[in-house]
Amino acid sequence: MDYMPSSERVIHKAHTVEVQWEKGSTVTFDGKVYEFRQFHFHTPSEHLIDGITYPLEMHMVNTLRGDDQVYLVWSILFREGEENPLLATFLNDVPEKPDGEVVLRTKIDLMDYRVPELDYYTYQGSLTTPPYTESVTWVIHKTIREASAAQLKRLGELEGNNARHVQPLHGREVEEK
Ligand SMILES: [Zn+2]
Repeated sequence: MDYMPSSERVIHKAHTVEVQWEKGSTVTFDGKVYEFRQFHFHTPSEHLIDGITYPLEMHMVNTLRGDDQVYLVWSILFREGEENPLLATFLNDVPEKPDGEVVLRTKIDLMDYRVPELDYYTYQGSLTTPPYTESVTWVIHKTIREASAAQLKRLGELEGNNARHVQPLHGREVEEK
């Protein structure tokens, strides 16, 4: 990962809260270079692990250098617990009304929030919102993060329920790394 301390603005879209990133941050996965675009949230989670739904899921969206229709999405799940320092950097700045956006006052360094071990599940899937583009490599971190009850409540109020229902595997394999 080569994510630079950045972030442009936080947007309250109709169905999600999204933090957009300045150009220049990249991640290499399976020998391919992707450019980091934005992260956004789903309440509750869209991925289930061993049948368990979590209250919050964060999607870090990267697109292949040279083809922005090919995606690599990191998924991070949250349970209720301690206040989350990453969420705290922008949550108070989120505009109350959908379609509002705010330029962030502070830079966010995602490298500060990395976990030492990167264990994950991965599979080939699609975007979970229209147009459901089927060229997504999903990487779901095994480490579950914590967010406070107040943070979970706040994101839930801003977004409403915006999780797509779980889809059948249709013979796809979920690998564990
Ligand atoms: Zn998403």
